[in-house]
Amino acid sequence: MRIGFIGLGIMGKPMARNVMKGGHEVVAYDIVSGLLEAVVADGAARGASCSDVASRTEVIVTMLPDGPQVEQAILGPNGVLEGIRSRAVVIDMSSISPLVSQRVGAACAEKSVDFLDAPVSGGEPKAVDGTLAIMAGGDPAVFEKVTPILRLMGASVTLTGPVGAGNVAKLANQIMVACNIAAMGEALVLATKCGLDPEVVFQAVKGGLAGSTVLNAKAPMVISRNFQPGFRIRLHEKDLRNALLTAESVKVSLPLTSMVQQMLIALMNSGGGDLDHSAIVTFIERMANTQVQRPTQ
Ligand code: NAD
Repeated sequence: MRIGFIGLGIMGKPMARNVMKGGHEVVAYDIVSGLLEAVVADGAARGASCSDVASRTEVIVTMLPDGPQVEQAILGPNGVLEGIRSRAVVIDMSSISPLVSQRVGAACAEKSVDFLDAPVSGGEPKAVDGTLAIMAGGDPAVFEKVTPILRLMGASVTLTGPVGAGNVAKLANQIMVACNIAAMGEALVLATKCGLDPEVVFQAVKGGLAGSTVLNAKAPMVISRNFQPGFRIRLHEKDLRNALLTAESVKVSLPLTSMVQQMLIALMNSGGGDLDHSAIVTFIERMANTQVQRPTQ
């Protein structure tokens, strides 16, 4: 199959590579030419624009930062829908508001184009390994048709409902991850201020009920003071903003999500937007004037 890939950043680049490894031809495009050249060097064909990519492929994948970029790339001038072939499928794998997914899905349907929203969880390491968790929204027959392609990028591929449902599941994921990191921060700050070694506390609790994938991935980063992204603070703030907007539209209150979003905004204002989201802990550290680190030996 000829597959279009638009958005070749931290996630899109390795995902496009895995699609090529699966034996498909990829026509790639990114507004940053250096990123496009890297994927072309790996064997992809060079797309000239989003509409050019769509005119040469049967399935078009987008992996972009947020809703405005997705709307621009798919619906905008020189966008995917300008070049699209009949019976093509558009799969947006970006994490965006479900309301935007539904709007884009409706615009695709008007042109008789199939659309799925299929955001991912797992970060860069799982994008590289092709073991992402993919949560999709859309028509079951369309989902079945493209599942073999999604399987090249993900270890788990789940249809969660109609268009928009993939991003609702992703927002649920992002709420749990953000609140988990914040709770871990409060716990480790308290333990450290009480004179305990946070590494010993981590080892003591990780096999119990508080153990989690988040704890295993993020506690070692905090204890070793390594906040290299990973997943950036500014992207997680975007996800919590989308969660709060979605929650408002269905009249659900999310007090914990709202509080962690405020922490993320404060961290962005103090220059931390490009740090890994494990740096949420530094907000709690400042309030306690205590840094989570091992006692000097
Ligand atoms: P990124 O910023 O590294 O990549 C996005 C790419 O889109 C950039 O290369 C940018 O140049 C390109 N782009 C922007 N507008 C464009 C347009 N109009 N046409 C073509 N290209 C355009 O971001 P990322 O980390 O790869 O994340 C992409 C999405 O995946 C985001 O929604 C993010 O929330 C989500 N996500 C990221 C991670 C992670 O760990 N990084 C994990 C899961 C999900």
